[in-house]
Amino acid sequence: MRKQIIVANWKMNLSNIEAESLVDEILKATLSLKDNQQVVFAVPFPYLINIKNIIGNKNSFFVAAQNCASTKNGAYTGEVSSEMLDGIGIKYVIIGHSERRLYNHEDNKVLKQKVDLALESNIHPIFCCGESLGTRESNNQNTFVEHQLRESLFQLTTEQIKKVVIAYEPIWAIGTGKTATSEEAQEMHAHIRKVLSTQFGITTAESISILYGGSVKGSNAEEIFNNSDVDGGLIGGASLNATEFLTIIKSLK
Ligand code: PEP
Repeated sequence: MRKQIIVANWKMNLSNIEAESLVDEILKATLSLKDNQQVVFAVPFPYLINIKNIIGNKNSFFVAAQNCASTKNGAYTGEVSSEMLDGIGIKYVIIGHSERRLYNHEDNKVLKQKVDLALESNIHPIFCCGESLGTRESNNQNTFVEHQLRESLFQLTTEQIKKVVIAYEPIWAIGTGKTATSEEAQEMHAHIRKVLSTQFGITTAESISILYGGSVKGSNAEEIFNNSDVDGGLIGGASLNATEFLTIIKSLK
């Protein structure tokens, strides 16, 4: 059965104390997660070890980095390599978030290098893709997303792609309060799975988790997650509030 995953993307928010108490509150809640369901906290680099320690060996909860370097090591001041993340026991890393594509000019080629290095370090990339409003308005979203997948993921072997989580995040829905409709989400997720199946085969494509991201809240999570090709969500703003985030986790199928 495919994994269902809820990823909290905290971005550059929360003090250390606020971060600890948010995670405490979520861990204390009664959540009956199924065997194939996971919750991942993508936290700023300085909090990784602390949040990982707070989670301890609690099943189904993981910590992720929000980025990793596109080079293995060396004179790259300020960068953090996937090897270093592996060294502290990190299992997931977000790669290609639209904010990094935009503000840090990360293109598909650089993201391909990051994906390769993360996998080399046994870390699951949470690979983000998604179109701008202009691309959607001109009805080119399917070709655009396919291109992103081809350029950053098609070099992988079947065994490698199985370790990747895809997050479809239409840029126009991130932090805007505007969500893709349930139909739009399902349609794109099915398209992504079809694109993956052309390269890696149907069985492999069927095993890959595809998350939706873009203004998911407690009030709309269930409707979005109920679609057959939606395997959870990448949650920004709403992951900073324990009550909202818990409602989202409980909305998994
Ligand atoms: C995100 O940061 O990936 C995101 C989806 O943000 P939000 O939920 O705030 O739209």
